[in-house]
Amino acid sequence: MFQSLTFRGGVHPPGSKEITANKEIEALHPRGDLVYPMSQHIGAPCVSLVKKGDKVLSGQKIADSEAFVSAPVLSSVSGTVKDIGMRMTIPGSFEPCVIVENDGLFKCGSALSPHEDFHLLEPKECVKIIREAGIVGMGGATFPTHVKLSPPPGKNIRWVIVNGVECEPFLNCDNRLMLERPEPILGGLEICLRLFPEAEGVIAIEANKPEAIERMQKENFGRELPPSGKSIRIMPHEVKYPQGAEKMLIYTVTGREIPPGTLPADVGCLVLNVQTLFHIWMAVIEGIPVMERIVSVTGDAVAKPGNFLVPLGISVRELIDAAGGFTEEPAKLLSGGPMMGLSMRSLDVPVTKGTSGILALTARSAPQLEESNCIRCARCVDACPMGLVPSSLDRAARLRDYVEFEAMGGMNCIECGSCTYRCPARRYLTQTCRNGKAGVTVARKRAEEVKKTAERTGETK
Ligand code: SF4
Ligand code: SF4
Repeated sequence: MFQSLTFRGGVHPPGSKEITANKEIEALHPRGDLVYPMSQHIGAPCVSLVKKGDKVLSGQKIADSEAFVSAPVLSSVSGTVKDIGMRMTIPGSFEPCVIVENDGLFKCGSALSPHEDFHLLEPKECVKIIREAGIVGMGGATFPTHVKLSPPPGKNIRWVIVNGVECEPFLNCDNRLMLERPEPILGGLEICLRLFPEAEGVIAIEANKPEAIERMQKENFGRELPPSGKSIRIMPHEVKYPQGAEKMLIYTVTGREIPPGTLPADVGCLVLNVQTLFHIWMAVIEGIPVMERIVSVTGDAVAKPGNFLVPLGISVRELIDAAGGFTEEPAKLLSGGPMMGLSMRSLDVPVTKGTSGILALTARSAPQLEESNCIRCARCVDACPMGLVPSSLDRAARLRDYVEFEAMGGMNCIECGSCTYRCPARRYLTQTCRNGKAGVTVARKRAEEVKKTAERTGETK
């Protein structure tokens, strides 16, 4: 019997976790230059703090922003700044980057100090350390963690939920971290619970990871109670995609729904990924900022799939080489998993804070299928966990009818891919929803500009 609730909709794609589930995390040392995009997070992009020719140290802050919703970028190696310029990133766009030539010495230059006992730190100091460490949502959302940990006054945080679900097929980086390093995850949660003394800590893990559940339970046993007096709960969850999406997870843990336009903090919740908590512990206790992350390299086009601990900024090509290269030219190359992953155009792009996996599939497992007409079967409606009508959103987005798209709740689409997965006509529903959301955003901006111009010129009087 599962202890968690179940959410509406969702799908059951093949997990394909077995490819890398038993592969221990392998540390990888970079050979080539490291490329650091200025925007590896949601929020304001950073600006470089270094210039060409500067010497940098491992852990040194090389870019930052004055904006609250942003996170600094730190060098993962010591060496020399080779260039500052535009480079291609994983989504295929060119972004401003700092390029560092690695001297291979890994001389440490972190400005953070270790702290043996986090109880001696003021909560504000902890949040400051987390900001300076450049920590963002490492599950792929990349929202700056110090912002999440600073909800507006009056928000009573009742639950800190640790997302160890990893429902995206193929990926195992969170699973392996729970198996190999459970103590820093629990330690990171304890730091967060101290910031929210009334909150209960819950670690959510899908039931298809029994070893991780057992490992976390064992590590949790006998730990000191957090300030709320309630012991941390390890909560197995039903195996259903997208169980790990924030809204679904909050509902299945607490029974609370997040109304459109509100945030998890509005319903008393904070959700943090296991790798995020790991980095919180590393920053606060060890004084080590975010310089590396775990990436699953997987799929039937990869010779030796595995889970790698890699320095941020390393090229995806080096990762693929470490995984034995390709067995054949992949028909599909994605950053992330098959449901929410981004198509990649090149291997010469850097791993960033949000890169959880590289998936390479052959034409046999990812055949190129043509779209056909909608047969109005409503399977996409049954699959949508947000209660939307994807076929109608698809039509509105293709017609560029953004007013209709918005009226149908299109902006609530979480781009989970469930509708596309279920559609027998193979319609690109998720992609058109993504386009629809982008169209609404542009239309809103334009309307705002028109309003401002009219106000300036007095046309509205
Ligand atoms: S419409 Fe959006 S939220 Fe609904 S299933 Fe499709 S991608 Fe997921
Ligand atoms: S699942 Fe596909 S074919 Fe069926 S109603 Fe939705 S869009 Fe149309």
